[in-house]
Amino acid sequence: MMLEINTVKELREAIGPEKAKGKKIGFVPTMGYFHEGHLALMREAKNRAGIVVVSIFVNPTQFGPNEDLDKYPRDLERDRGLAEGAGVDILFVPSAAEMYPDGYATYVEVAGDIADVLCGRSRPGHFRGVATIVAKLLNIVMPDAAFFGEKDWQQLVVIKRMVHDINMDVEIVGIPTVREADGLAMSSRNAYLNPKEREAALILSRALRLAHDIVKGGERDAARLSKALQGYIRAEKHVELEYLEVCDPESLAPVDKIAADTLVAVAAKIGKARLIDNTIIHVGGS
Ligand code: AMP
Repeated sequence: MMLEINTVKELREAIGPEKAKGKKIGFVPTMGYFHEGHLALMREAKNRAGIVVVSIFVNPTQFGPNEDLDKYPRDLERDRGLAEGAGVDILFVPSAAEMYPDGYATYVEVAGDIADVLCGRSRPGHFRGVATIVAKLLNIVMPDAAFFGEKDWQQLVVIKRMVHDINMDVEIVGIPTVREADGLAMSSRNAYLNPKEREAALILSRALRLAHDIVKGGERDAARLSKALQGYIRAEKHVELEYLEVCDPESLAPVDKIAADTLVAVAAKIGKARLIDNTIIHVGGS
């Protein structure tokens, strides 16, 4: 039976005895409205750990003032069933007041470029909110390993940096992006798309596949690659491109030449949805 817990105190009381028995704890933080991407994280956690803890918390501090915090899709009943089916042992569903009680004053900020580029540029404060909530959750759960999707590549880089910099004793595991059969990266926000927008959204994953083809064709100039991909996406009229960048997968700094593993990251508005996707292009023996 999966246990559902709403308070930090009860969660600690539930996890403590399992740790005392020597069980490994795997943790998957989420904002709920589960899809196969979330379930892939949970299944991998179950493969690697005796006890799997999943949190569902739509974290207000990572949303900007004009973003979709109030409209973010929620279905706790369905999420419960899916989590239980994936072998989750403990579902942690705190309230906003539980995580940020009156007088709450402490934030975790990963300074510098990795949090300021790409999504950090268009969503100021977003990664501060992400780092803060993930730091809190890691301190509460104290897992052996925590699982994050590569769909949110920059988030994974920011979390790894935070864990390294402040010496948190947890392994951060990245899980490959789970896609719909036609290539669209799974996202809770895909629920915002009407059928026409859903079709238009395919341009993002198609552009990333095209990136691989262009590089296979011999292109090594990052500016030419990104120009070609931006042009390809801009031809789709329902899609408002926010960025398409060609960067180093670890530093997230833009690259001039595609000479080693290279991240192509994209963000776009499609109707009410802001969607992101990315791919890593492997070249030259790396
Ligand atoms: P979210 O609920 O959207 O905040 O996502 C919770 C976790 O699931 C994050 O680590 C995401 O990167 C991960 N995730 C979201 N979508 C996918 C996907 N399509 N494939 C793999 N992981 C995903």
